[in-house]
Amino acid sequence: MGAKVTGDPEVADVVYLDYNATAPLRPEALEATAAALCSVGNASSMHHPGRDAATRVDHARRQLADLLDCSPGELIFTSGATEANNLALRAACARGGLLVTSAVEHPAVLETARAVTAERSDSLIVLPVDSDGMVDFVPLESTLRNRDVSLISVMLANNETGVLTNLAPIIEAAHEVGALVHTDATQYAGRLPLDLSELDVDLLSLSAHKFGGPQGVGALFVRRGAPLPHQPLLVGGGHERGWRAGTLNVAGIVGLGAAAEAARKQLEQEALCVGELRAALETALLAQVDDCRINGGRVARLPGVTSVTFPGAPADAVLAAMPHVAASDGSACSSGAPSPSHVLLAMGHSRDDADSTVRFSLGYATTERDVERAVEAVVQAVRNVRAAMSATSGP
Ligand code: PMP
Repeated sequence: MGAKVTGDPEVADVVYLDYNATAPLRPEALEATAAALCSVGNASSMHHPGRDAATRVDHARRQLADLLDCSPGELIFTSGATEANNLALRAACARGGLLVTSAVEHPAVLETARAVTAERSDSLIVLPVDSDGMVDFVPLESTLRNRDVSLISVMLANNETGVLTNLAPIIEAAHEVGALVHTDATQYAGRLPLDLSELDVDLLSLSAHKFGGPQGVGALFVRRGAPLPHQPLLVGGGHERGWRAGTLNVAGIVGLGAAAEAARKQLEQEALCVGELRAALETALLAQVDDCRINGGRVARLPGVTSVTFPGAPADAVLAAMPHVAASDGSACSSGAPSPSHVLLAMGHSRDDADSTVRFSLGYATTERDVERAVEAVVQAVRNVRAAMSATSGP
């Protein structure tokens, strides 16, 4: 049995391979969230129930700090990674100087970067990627030497391909000239070990629902002493050390903390299992589907993600032909939009190939049986779609 995706019997039997869109809630997170929802108390209130809520939040902050190897005081709870990215980029932009990011960032970074530099578009530099999806940092070297760079924001793991970025040399080069580094670790945190006492980024964003916590809660790590002016998006009661006003989402934060602790304890084992399942999925697809390609398959990736192009088989048709497999055509945030994946285009794919790419993302509750069922379904779906396409295109 795979993860329990839903109580709805219609979809209870779905093979859920869309962990990058959202992971199923971990049992530990469900239990902690439910208990917190059943308790009264505003974490800012001074009475006993309020202090009790504050204690739960403190505990969750410690649980997350343990996952990341940072200090609890360096964490700001947010509504998710979108908000954390907005906060990070807006604060950095308020310092003036150039903003550098990459062409394969999530829209929560790319669109924010464009928005905060809208009035001075020459202050944004977007680094290209190669055909494996690796960020090309070569143009950055001369930029760092010759221009005033305020912030470099590059993701640790790509949400569509899983391709990892080696940030350490970039951080070193950036710090030499006083630039700050932000990373969107939304797909990385809770899936691979992350040690902020080693990885010297100044800012990092994450989201609970990618590692088995509830949706609608995340965090921004701000390294102690980082020279950043607060640029709160929400102004009010001055919560979260002035970074984010508003009553804390105690139940969500508690669920995030519980998921972080569960992920930390099981992370290495999960990464190993998930990596083996992904390998099995890719081996079977490559053997059984003519002409399919794994994007970013030659470089280091997150263990659970595979982006597969099936030339001649549009992804929306493939997904529709296998309704009991939940996967994604591109990123969930842009699905439904008519434009092809900016990530695959940046990697040099044609529009047709980008439109014929399916992302499968596996996670802590994925089983061998899930992979077997998915392979059967995908092989058949691609065959059917290709046959239908060649029948309609005619001789
Ligand atoms: N960054 C990345 C890399 C993501 O994959 C996502 C979610 N798709 C986000 C940011 C946005 O996260 P959230 O849903 O918490 O706003």
